[in-house]
Amino acid sequence: MYDFQRKRVYDWENAQSWFTREISYLTEQQVRLIIERLDKIFKRNTTIKFKNGRGGSWAVENEVHLRKSWALNYGVIFHEYAHILTKDLHGRQFICAYCNLLNLFHPKQPSFDELCQTMYQFRVSHDCFDEWRRKHKLSRRHEPFESVPEIQVVEKPKKKRVSAKQRVMKLLEEYSFLHVEGPTETDTPTPWVYGQFDSSGDPNDPWCDFHYCEGNSWLEIERRCLDYIKLWNAGVKGEYQEG
Ligand SMILES: [Zn+2]
Repeated sequence: MYDFQRKRVYDWENAQSWFTREISYLTEQQVRLIIERLDKIFKRNTTIKFKNGRGGSWAVENEVHLRKSWALNYGVIFHEYAHILTKDLHGRQFICAYCNLLNLFHPKQPSFDELCQTMYQFRVSHDCFDEWRRKHKLSRRHEPFESVPEIQVVEKPKKKRVSAKQRVMKLLEEYSFLHVEGPTETDTPTPWVYGQFDSSGDPNDPWCDFHYCEGNSWLEIERRCLDYIKLWNAGVKGEYQEG
């Protein structure tokens, strides 16, 4: 089946006030309750998979896959649930299901007039809304879902953590006057840190008679490296000869 208006549907929904693509303002528990209620109304049994990381959200058969970072909101949930209810990708039946869900259950309850007019602008085509509504015995007796503040409630994925050891390794690459002895060699795990100064005791060396690093900690090694870099950048270059 050719998904003839997929791009137009995305463009249309992204431009609407009832659609928030980048914010997860519902909790997983709220999403479960929403799907549970829809399942009761439509006599379905939907499995929800909350996904970490970047990427898309989708629905297959009776499963919805939702990205925790951006998909836990009414617009995306109704979009995916409309896929559960129909079998024509983003076709005319899908739009019927989607618009009925939005009109009845979205807290903002966009009217059919509004939905039709905006779809017309984006050249999105659809089948008869009323017919679909009758077929599923839907009516105004169904209350919309509760309105919630559109504030991110799920943490966006964090940037990858960089360890003190990784940071030190980068500094060693960048500043060739730095020397760390010990922790990289398995037989001598005690770290000794040297900067740009003569090891016999330059008075400018803040660690002149204390190169031995107690506690064997990468954070402490990093702190000393940064001390030396600070002096280096201030022009205190000691005995170190570049090149
Ligand atoms: Zn879709």
